[in-house]
Amino acid sequence: MDITVAYFHSLLNPETVKRDFEQIRATGATSLVYAIHEQEEQRWSRDLERGLRLAQDVGLKVYLSLGRYGNMFAGPSLMPSWYTFHHPQSRVKDRHGRYHDVSCFNQEGFRSWLFKEITYYVTNYPIAGVLLDEPRGPDITCFCSVCRALCPDVTDLPRFRRRSMIDFLSELYATVKQADPYAKTAIALLPQDLYQLEDLAMIPHLDILGCHPFWQLLHEDIGLVDEWGRMLVETARRSEKRSQLWLQNFSLDEHDEAELENTFQRLLHAEPDEIACYYYWRNNANPGSVWGNTRRLLQRIPRRQLYWQSTLPRTPAIQPVSD
Ligand SMILES: [Zn+2]
Repeated sequence: MDITVAYFHSLLNPETVKRDFEQIRATGATSLVYAIHEQEEQRWSRDLERGLRLAQDVGLKVYLSLGRYGNMFAGPSLMPSWYTFHHPQSRVKDRHGRYHDVSCFNQEGFRSWLFKEITYYVTNYPIAGVLLDEPRGPDITCFCSVCRALCPDVTDLPRFRRRSMIDFLSELYATVKQADPYAKTAIALLPQDLYQLEDLAMIPHLDILGCHPFWQLLHEDIGLVDEWGRMLVETARRSEKRSQLWLQNFSLDEHDEAELENTFQRLLHAEPDEIACYYYWRNNANPGSVWGNTRRLLQRIPRRQLYWQSTLPRTPAIQPVSD
């Protein structure tokens, strides 16, 4: 079972970053998720490059998450997309003619801009993969001119929305693989979007299916974690993809924190290929204690072979002479 840790902190102080990454690596983590927002890279490309290299240096593969691009994905900062702000005509328009604050993925301008951004990052930075964090589902049927032109039958528009979202994600992941055939691709879904799993599992260039079973944040029963976990892991296995379950080690008060271990055991019980969590992420009542508990829990994960055993060059064995 592999460990992934999300790092949503500034990369500006290399000393701090290095110390944090060493601490993350010491938990046994092999991958790191780093989120970038649209307007950031142009201001501090050197810090980004250096930060990602520091992760690589300690043995962490970096997955880049596209923070709020087109307002389509989740991101650490609650800020609107610059693309959508500058291209208001790209927004989703509902049946009543009202605009929503998310760009329509069927619009060619938005697609080509996004795919270009992805190619740029994968080509220019030491990135091992791309993760899409909680993409906004096809919940709002879009009646923009592009969607109407692509699907003239108005009664078929909701189904068309679902189909075209899978097309869009397929093309996005294919773009990642085109830029780097070795790059890995991942998605992290909220439980309410797990109904899309079967369709997502059909995307050939998608490697990792993930879920955020955040029952506390969503005010759901802890028992649902088992159900969501099972659903995800089974679908991933059937489609020969990797499964990733996330631990909500953020936004916890003292009472919530007491449930961390129970939640973690349920995640382990589902036997995913990967467990993921966050490094000192937002709004915990006791940040130090939550990270300390997370580290202790991660130690319970069954380890793969130690890495020096598989990377040492083989030396020819000397046969003992028996007689
Ligand atoms: Zn549309």
